[in-house]
Amino acid sequence: MNFELDKEQLMIKKMVSDFAQNVIRPRAVDIDRTAQFPVDIFEQIGELGLLGIPFPEEYGGAGSDTISYAIAVEEIGKVCGSTGLSYAAAVSLGASPIYYFGTEEQKKQYLTPLAEGKALGAFGLTEPNAGSDAGGTKTTAVVDGDDFIINGEKCYITNASFAETVIVTAVTGKDDRGKNIISAIIVPTDTDGVTITSNYDKMGVRGSDTAEIVLDHVRVPKENLLGDPEKGFKQFLHTLDGGRISIAALGVGIAQASLDRALEYAKERKQFGKAISSFQAIQFKLADMAMEVELARNMVYKAAWLKDQGKPFTKESAYAKLFATETAFRSANQAIQIHGGYGYMREYEVERFLRDAKLLEIGEGTSEIQRLVIARQLLD
Ligand SMILES: Cc1cc2nc3c(=O)[nH]c(=O)nc-3n(C[C@H](O)[C@H](O)[C@H](O)COP(=O)(O)OP(=O)(O)OC[C@H]3O[C@@H](n4cnc5c(N)ncnc54)[C@H](O)[C@@H]3O)c2cc1C
Repeated sequence: MNFELDKEQLMIKKMVSDFAQNVIRPRAVDIDRTAQFPVDIFEQIGELGLLGIPFPEEYGGAGSDTISYAIAVEEIGKVCGSTGLSYAAAVSLGASPIYYFGTEEQKKQYLTPLAEGKALGAFGLTEPNAGSDAGGTKTTAVVDGDDFIINGEKCYITNASFAETVIVTAVTGKDDRGKNIISAIIVPTDTDGVTITSNYDKMGVRGSDTAEIVLDHVRVPKENLLGDPEKGFKQFLHTLDGGRISIAALGVGIAQASLDRALEYAKERKQFGKAISSFQAIQFKLADMAMEVELARNMVYKAAWLKDQGKPFTKESAYAKLFATETAFRSANQAIQIHGGYGYMREYEVERFLRDAKLLEIGEGTSEIQRLVIARQLLD
């Protein structure tokens, strides 16, 4: 067993870290304060090839692996949760399903611009009455000649306002047992009848675009159906398994940043004539944070490695997502505690880490749903 990153993974880590520290970090406070999606940063992310890390070169990607992609998410997540979330959603949710399930034609037409960083993608699964219970989708897609006519509403969709394409899930019929068949369909966002609004005032990840999508008699060609029409539900479960690795990696980034800030502050801050880092109560917090960050990162790498080997990774990606995101929340909370009153002030940024980390316990399957996924795998 080899726990070392290879040459290419180390190179990607350095490249993304330099970009994150030099370009994103100085903007992170403002991105949060203004809740503005940083379009120019995403242009640079695209130019650097980061949106194509896990996709083959023939589709405009870098031909790297899931571990490299997780490293990139972590490095961005260390400095800005908003940018990290939008980056992870663009790759794992907006582009990956086309790579996993798309036809050759769909990959050329829709995946290539996403992987090349010339466009952003989004994934519209959640609806006002279908969140954790995604099978409760109400959006419908009815065949009309050579087209689908889609009607419905999606909510909380990351990147949708800035995306060229959104993959939406919709009911396309009933199976033998009378259950809804849910399919996935690629919808260009400039299609007539698509209305996208982003009016949410969020607690955290404020610079990540989160939008509502209304689909009113949206007509798209039947060729835009993604993968097997009967297996749309299974397909998005597979997509979410992969996406969870990236949300976990984002959790590792926030947890590591919380630890770094807490460590630095604890060494500087003096009370009772000594640095607070000399108090065992503070040392124990730092020790727990460091141990959890290390564990979380190992879980992310293991899930990513399993995925790259083509082995089952559903349970491991749920472990990683659950543990890493709860670690992010705990670490950010302890970082605030170690900063005392200063930690409660925006200036010190650790309060932003806590607000951003909270979303990770909700998006792409809540912590409760991760426990259900794990339990199902154990009991099956
Ligand atoms: C900022 C942000 C970005 C998002 N981006 C996207 C995106 O790009 N695409 C997309 O499709 N969706 C996106 N989402 C939606 C997100 O995936 C859902 O919010 C999430 O899956 C939970 O669904 P819900 O909000 O409807 O909560 P609910 O499902 O209503 O859950 C409410 C509570 O009940 C619990 N619960 C529900 N069912 C069970 C159960 N069976 N057992 C135990 N507890 C249960 C939940 O864990 C939770 O604590 C985003 C959400 C946010 C906030």
